[in-house]
Amino acid sequence: MQIIFQDPYASLNPRMRIRQILGEALDTHGMATGKARRQARIAELLDLVGLRPEYADRYPHEFSGGQRQRIGVARALAVEPGFIVADEPLSALDVSIQAQVVNLLCDLKDRLGLTMLFISHDLDVVEFLCDRVIVLYLGKIMEIAPTEILYRHPRHPYTQALLAASPVPDPAQRLDNRPLLTGDIPSPANPPSGCVFRTRCPRAQAACAQTIPPLIEVAPEHWKACLRDNLPTPLT
Ligand code: SF4
Repeated sequence: MQIIFQDPYASLNPRMRIRQILGEALDTHGMATGKARRQARIAELLDLVGLRPEYADRYPHEFSGGQRQRIGVARALAVEPGFIVADEPLSALDVSIQAQVVNLLCDLKDRLGLTMLFISHDLDVVEFLCDRVIVLYLGKIMEIAPTEILYRHPRHPYTQALLAASPVPDPAQRLDNRPLLTGDIPSPANPPSGCVFRTRCPRAQAACAQTIPPLIEVAPEHWKACLRDNLPTPLT
């Protein structure tokens, strides 16, 4: 397992050349031993993420934000992981650069058969990149579903509010009856009793303060943690 960090301006050692940064991962795991194999693997990794192999002798400050994140991706790939945690890998990048990194991750996922846990607040990117979505609120799972189902038929009040708040190109097309959330997120150190979403939920009822909603499969591969209408959908 490997991780791609959020901020490529903080996750690369400024005193190390790219060759050392990538080589360190290989050395630590005893991979690509011997000078020739090590150099070849570093060149291969840079090529894999769309950077020229001759960049290996540069320092991080000589790269743009998008290029730095590509180096972070190459470092994660160095040890041939089967699973990558990508922790908000786009949030520190300019919007114009984000699409390049998204396409790179998408391409690598398909080419290398990676499983990736992609953490993001960007609903459009999640829809584009992910096969399955887990919606969290205050660290608790609210809903799990295949991406297409979740975006077309969100069942949890929080997911519905999230999707309704997502910007649309033409605001005139927005439905007037979209559920809007009010108030602030409670402190994770002192979460509400029962359902953690209840202080902002437009559908909250008295029982929501008493009972922690269990995560229930309400349709095939579709899970929801909500006390209302939480009966399994009959299969037709
Ligand atoms: S359990 Fe209650 S408060 Fe929580 S999401 Fe469902 S209706 Fe809202």
